[in-house]
Amino acid sequence: MADVIPRAAARASSGGRNTSARSAGVRLTVDWTACDGRGLCAELLHELVKRDDWGFPLISDQPVPAALLDHAERAVELCPTLALRLRADQ
Ligand code: SF4
Repeated sequence: MADVIPRAAARASSGGRNTSARSAGVRLTVDWTACDGRGLCAELLHELVKRDDWGFPLISDQPVPAALLDHAERAVELCPTLALRLRADQ
């Protein structure tokens, strides 16, 4: 099972600035039992998250590009139900 990456731990393990190292194999996931489907994540991270017909997020299964990792971390932090997460691949 993949581990959830707390933002602070990801930054600390990479020295805080190396986004390409931080993002290697990191993917967005959703806890569907918690998601309310209002789509804030799609507004904050439209490059990786689209909305389905009911407003629930459709998330790219590709690793988060280094250039978008800060935006992805912000979307995770602002998810009102803590449903959006970053996970490292095993
Ligand atoms: S911001 Fe969180 S609760 Fe809202 S749609 Fe995205 S994952 Fe679901």
